[in-house]
Amino acid sequence: MVGAKEVLLAEPRGFCAGVDRAIEIVERALAKFGAPIYVRHEIVHNTFVVNDLKAKGAIFIEELDEVPPGSTLIFSAHGVSKAVQQEAERRGFAIFDATCPLVTKVHVEVAKLAKEGYEFLMIGHKGHPEVEGTMGQLSEGIHLVEDEGDVAKVAPRQTEKLAVVTQTTLSVDDAAGIKAAIKARFPLVREPKQQDICYATQNRQDAVKVLAPQVDLVIVVGSPTSSNSNRLRELADRLGTPAYMVDNALELKQEWFADAARVGLTAGASAPEVLVDEVIARIRQLGAVAVRKMDGIEETIKFPLPKGLKIDAATGLEIAVRKAPETGH
Ligand code: SF4
Repeated sequence: MVGAKEVLLAEPRGFCAGVDRAIEIVERALAKFGAPIYVRHEIVHNTFVVNDLKAKGAIFIEELDEVPPGSTLIFSAHGVSKAVQQEAERRGFAIFDATCPLVTKVHVEVAKLAKEGYEFLMIGHKGHPEVEGTMGQLSEGIHLVEDEGDVAKVAPRQTEKLAVVTQTTLSVDDAAGIKAAIKARFPLVREPKQQDICYATQNRQDAVKVLAPQVDLVIVVGSPTSSNSNRLRELADRLGTPAYMVDNALELKQEWFADAARVGLTAGASAPEVLVDEVIARIRQLGAVAVRKMDGIEETIKFPLPKGLKIDAATGLEIAVRKAPETGH
């Protein structure tokens, strides 16, 4: 780096309430029942978090036949389809559901409207576990649209009772464009009362919109599988600021910083602050002399833990014992 450099920290950044809760569920299950605890899919899309929990005794699996009978199984924050939930119950696992309550909210909406005869267009990324989980709430009548091209081609059976749902971690701007295309083609389409894109995704994107124009380079801490982290990098890039996503400080490249007097730093909702601290330490080695936090929204939201893993704040005692199967949110 050349001359005095400043790091501007986006606010908010990093862990959201759903990620906090999901990790706490695995840690409490490990503390209470001992290793191994099985987790279906990466609990959240972050390499550091997953490796840390693996070291503590969590085993991450994709298929339920990898889980021995009588085991404790946790569903990841992204949620699961009805078929996976039913199969896990049939196999008799003790289940804890770490699905983010904001994803569950979408599942509940889909189930409710389906009973009223609605068909769905889901805006999301093919193959993402959250999309598989939400689409898998129904056996039919839910169609994935990834972009405006898909909107032009999609062929619902009827158009009077059609509703839109979205993945929670999309680009707010992209989703708005796709929704506009849906409304233009299907004017009667029903939209969710509250948008499905979650508060954490919205707030982190809003923070990057403020940050990116003020800096010469944006670094996003996040794993390649993390949808919301990828959206942050793309957003900064679209705003005209070169942007890179790194899983950890070792991935930073010195040449990125050559002409950057001000570096913006943010982190996806699944990236822990310890990785941000390591990135800051590395940028300091590369010449940064000051770190400044941007002003931004303070997030205070916290989601309750499932029954069987709750601790009474007053007594420090567990509130209820585990029953198998257990699927509380
Ligand atoms: S990013 Fe949003 S939907 Fe995903 S876990 Fe966090 S709060 Fe929940």
